[in-house]
Amino acid sequence: MKRRDFLTTSALGLGAIGLSGCYREENKISSKNINVKKGKVVKLKLATSWPAHFPIMGTGVDNFAKRCSELSGGTLEIKVYPKNILVPALQVFDSTSMGQIDAFHSGVYYWKGKNSAFSIFGGMPLGLTSEEMITWLKFGGGLELWRELYGKFNLYPLIGGTTGPQMGGWFKKPINSLADLKGLKMRIPGLGGEVMKKLGVNPVLLPPGEIFTSLERGTIDATEWVGPALDSMMGFAKAADYYYTGWHEPGSILEITFNKNRWEQLSSEHQAIITAVAEEMTGNMLQEFRYKNAKALQELPENVQIKTFPKDIMDAAKIALNEVLELESKKNNDFKRALNSYNNFSKLNKKWDDISTKNFLNIRG
Ligand code: CA
Repeated sequence: MKRRDFLTTSALGLGAIGLSGCYREENKISSKNINVKKGKVVKLKLATSWPAHFPIMGTGVDNFAKRCSELSGGTLEIKVYPKNILVPALQVFDSTSMGQIDAFHSGVYYWKGKNSAFSIFGGMPLGLTSEEMITWLKFGGGLELWRELYGKFNLYPLIGGTTGPQMGGWFKKPINSLADLKGLKMRIPGLGGEVMKKLGVNPVLLPPGEIFTSLERGTIDATEWVGPALDSMMGFAKAADYYYTGWHEPGSILEITFNKNRWEQLSSEHQAIITAVAEEMTGNMLQEFRYKNAKALQELPENVQIKTFPKDIMDAAKIALNEVLELESKKNNDFKRALNSYNNFSKLNKKWDDISTKNFLNIRG
């Protein structure tokens, strides 16, 4: 079938490729029998928090839209709008909630101001890895709770990718003890930033476009970003020599989130396609991050020294994190529920992980 013919029959609500002839026959008999929904082209607007075709995250969501179209025989058209084209990067949550757009692709940690519980669905410092997070969300009750709490904002979330373990960040000077953190200005958002604050760091928020210049000029002393693949593109190695291993984002979760009314209006076929493609994207993104980080690590310039934070800092970070979590649990019952669910899974998972993956990685060496 030619594309123009397809568009014409689609516009009339007549059937997917290969079935349109059959629908036409029915049409002659009674228009009431036509399943108008089946062949109708559904167009959705999806805004992201990333620049156009941003590596891994942006290209991941571009591919998500392409796959939805392919698998639906062209009946599901998702137009991706990079940040600030249709909606400012951090307005995508509100715009989708209000129904100005149909969906968004972003990071869950951005919305802790809406409800601090959301930060838990995005991942926890010193906590679960990407694979463990996805397991908790899908099998341990996390996603159910996430959907309940997003439902209050008229939103329906799906897991929309994950970064794998992130690095601890770039520092202009080595950090040898807790004392070296005092008064340090660091770009670090989320729960990781709150923990760092308790350790004496002055966490600052900067838009991505300003991070490199601030680090180079010494306006900030340190910054975290993602991992070698994306950090190399930011040029941080030209501004700082010490690259610390990660602790604060062991498995950050991204989201593809729909306006709930819009989601419920979609056919069950389109819902199934979106759900399957979101899973595909999540797997692909995790593998792409792993491969590209491994490669970029090998290609870091010679001035870069990979370092790990000393034990006293990580011990203090664990204590500070527990204080942050306890305080927030007292303030917000949703946070307490999400944390309980997360902790229950963590406990369950730990015993098995200790004798399986962790043990194996130790043996493998
Ligand atoms: Ca980060």
